[in-house]
Amino acid sequence: MTDQSIPQQQVDGLDFGSFALGPAVLEALDELGFTHPTPIQAAVIPEALAGRDVIGLAQTGSGKTAAFGLPLAERHQHGKGVRGLILSPTREIAMQTKKFLDVFGRSHHLRTVLLIGGVRIGPQFDALKRHPDLVVATPGRLLDHLERGTVRLDKLEDLVIDEADHMLDLGFLPQIRRVLQALPRERRTMMFSATMPSQVAGLTRQFMRDPVTIDLTPEGGAAEGIEHELCLVEEKDKKRCLIALLANDEGSTLVFLRRKIDAEWACRQLEVEGHPVERIHSDRTQAQRTQALQGFREGEHRVLVATDVAARGIDIPRIEHIINFNPPETVEDYIHRAGRTARGKLLGRVSTIATWRDREMIRRIEAALGRKMTRKEVEGVPPYVELAGPRRGRIRRRLL
Ligand code: AMP
Repeated sequence: MTDQSIPQQQVDGLDFGSFALGPAVLEALDELGFTHPTPIQAAVIPEALAGRDVIGLAQTGSGKTAAFGLPLAERHQHGKGVRGLILSPTREIAMQTKKFLDVFGRSHHLRTVLLIGGVRIGPQFDALKRHPDLVVATPGRLLDHLERGTVRLDKLEDLVIDEADHMLDLGFLPQIRRVLQALPRERRTMMFSATMPSQVAGLTRQFMRDPVTIDLTPEGGAAEGIEHELCLVEEKDKKRCLIALLANDEGSTLVFLRRKIDAEWACRQLEVEGHPVERIHSDRTQAQRTQALQGFREGEHRVLVATDVAARGIDIPRIEHIINFNPPETVEDYIHRAGRTARGKLLGRVSTIATWRDREMIRRIEAALGRKMTRKEVEGVPPYVELAGPRRGRIRRRLL
């Protein structure tokens, strides 16, 4: 489990006992200290237990792992072949999901196997020989196993596609289609996503049966307790701005950068300034990434520096501040990143460093949020100014 739990918004007057969940699963919930369901759990669990296909629109951190995990654990018993498959976009999300399923299935010996890339495949062969009931996988490694014939999914009854929009961002659509084609047609499917890009909608039309849609995304797509700040600076001042933003910070902060080289620079620089910091990017091994995430979760490093791809889908409660060293490439990415803070009922802050080149993306993000980001001047960093044409002299003009 995560080491600190997120204070969740819960549905009053409803407890897990009111669902058709048996004693084994209720016991696991007790062990986790979950008393009341979150809104996504309250909406999804009854539909899933009734065997409906479900599209769940909800942000990371809303409790969706239990929303799909509890019905799976309730429905299946040990020793009947692989009955459930959960496709996850990243290794980190897959690992978190397995941890939950291990707890939910513990008292009835439900066995879950984790098939993720970036780690040795040998131990996965061994785990597959020990009769797993559920598989949690990232698409690439799952296909690898399917092609080698080391995993059989012909008895599959339940499919969960988690963070479908992240999967698209990561370019997994062709792999997902290949996996879907290898599965029995008669099955139940649940799909979760924070946004519904047209390709995800296309998947639901093609691969789901009369799904019920449960939309719990707040209007504008981002959690309400978030303060959105914009620091407009000159290109040459971006690094200074990042250092200055962090100098005034005390809580846990996640910094997104586009390039590995910038992530390395930021990590070194922040270390020099005395910040407890770690980094994750694609040149780091899986063990290094896991260690960095663990250190960040446990508060050993206050700051985590991450490249966009490496940071997708990481599950860390209580991030207080997100800093975008560049605005993300899509509005959906912005919403996802913002979803890493202000999770559950917490308040959080997102600061985006931008230059005049980013103005179109800023406009689009603000349109999606339905409000302007707060313009923020950072101490010691000159705000962006634009010089007007020569005839009008040097006029300082705000960009946005
Ligand atoms: P998830 O969205 O599944 O990643 O869950 C986010 C966090 O919420 C995790 O740290 C869970 O432990 C926590 N959580 C999920 N459901 C509940 C619940 N019903 N009550 C309290 N905490 C919960």
